[in-house]
Amino acid sequence: MDKKLLRELPSVDELLRSAELKDLLSDLNPCIVKDSVRAAIEWFRKGITEGRIRGLNRTDLIRKIRDRLTVLTEPGLRRVVNASGTVLHTNLGRAVLCREAVDALNLAATGPVNLEFDLARAGRGERDSVVEGLLRSLTSAEAACVVNNNAAAVLITLNTLADKKEVVISRGELIEIGGSFRLPEIIEKSGCVLREVGTTNRTHPSDYTSAITEDTALLFKAHRSNYEIVGFTSEVGLKDMVKMGRTHGLPVVEDLGSGSLIDLSPFGMEKEPVVGERVQMGADVVTFSADKLLGGPQAGIIVGKRRFVDRIRRNPLKRALRVDKLTLAALEATLRLYLRPECLVARLPALRFLARPVEDIDKVAQEAKRLLVDRLGPGYTVEVEDGESVVGSGSLPGYALPTRLVAITHEHVKAERIYAVFLSSTPPILGRINRERFLLDMRTIERAEDVCPDLSPAG
Ligand SMILES: *Cc1c(COP(=O)(O)O)cnc(C)c1O
Repeated sequence: MDKKLLRELPSVDELLRSAELKDLLSDLNPCIVKDSVRAAIEWFRKGITEGRIRGLNRTDLIRKIRDRLTVLTEPGLRRVVNASGTVLHTNLGRAVLCREAVDALNLAATGPVNLEFDLARAGRGERDSVVEGLLRSLTSAEAACVVNNNAAAVLITLNTLADKKEVVISRGELIEIGGSFRLPEIIEKSGCVLREVGTTNRTHPSDYTSAITEDTALLFKAHRSNYEIVGFTSEVGLKDMVKMGRTHGLPVVEDLGSGSLIDLSPFGMEKEPVVGERVQMGADVVTFSADKLLGGPQAGIIVGKRRFVDRIRRNPLKRALRVDKLTLAALEATLRLYLRPECLVARLPALRFLARPVEDIDKVAQEAKRLLVDRLGPGYTVEVEDGESVVGSGSLPGYALPTRLVAITHEHVKAERIYAVFLSSTPPILGRINRERFLLDMRTIERAEDVCPDLSPAG
């Protein structure tokens, strides 16, 4: 350890008075500047003590302080180019909103709105009413309400209808969704007792009926979302569960997860259940996310029989889980697009990406290849090839959408390194690695330039 060097370290006060930091102090909150100065000095002190730093350079010290402040003053939430091949990427914020939703957000953000004010009756109104009518017509349900996300929708539904009572669910549906949504834990946190029936691969109607006791509050069905059970399987369908529910006087609740409002089979996606169909099949309450296949902002939607939805709305948890005006504005605008199904694919980014023809993807891929060959320079090989994208967010598991990939390889540079270079570009470009090759999935890319990294030293 170099004692002399330690003594040479300037004090916080000296640095704060120095001309080198004057501009920062006139611009930023002094506490923040002071904090960064203190942290930078500490960093140098530690380096000297541990023998890593053997000379003191004032320019380095000032740079350290400025770097720390840059991290604080630059936006943390940044635009990312999604070339990962996962269309609804949870880590990238799921659905990209439509133009109409962005306009509605802007309107709600920049001035007062009639969020809880009934203009017709000139009195207090109900927050969810701007979307309830739309949700009722789009799902044929008697009533609807909205909370923060689908996890919240499941939580409040179970807590309202089954607090301290038993919830019967098939073992094959006790799912975990990425990002720590575990159905057994949500059921427990809702104050309910989990009553698992059947086995992982097979559950029969008799499994449910023999589990029903005086303590049973409801029958629960969960969409498996991100996994499939194949082979020797048997599952009790919603219709049969509704029949059992009627016989025993128990409501049937379904967590649909993604839940599309329209039939997606014209776009080649057959298997995703449609919310309205589940309501018509007799589910008493159906919950689903607004930011998965629906293509809207993060929210959880609860639709179903009026008497159940009214009880859910009166639960004090509703106040804790309610959505804000921005979410409601974006959700209303997104739902309005569904009133004109012909324009949905053109207007709703999530559906546009999912339904995008391969020829269209290929055109952008070829253009990207041309640009990348130029941009990356010698040593790199850039090829366009067939591949598969996934829907993401637990929607349509095991379902692959044919796509076109731009594969980038280099004789001496590993795929991980290329991945990192693209990710450190401005804006960051997220691709994926498959069998030691770096791939850009062009399904979600509409302009070829978007996947060309900024390779300037600063970038
Ligand atoms: C995605 C999903 C959830 C969680 O929904 P969030 O909106 O992310 O809270 C719950 N259940 C199922 C079946 C899902 O697919």
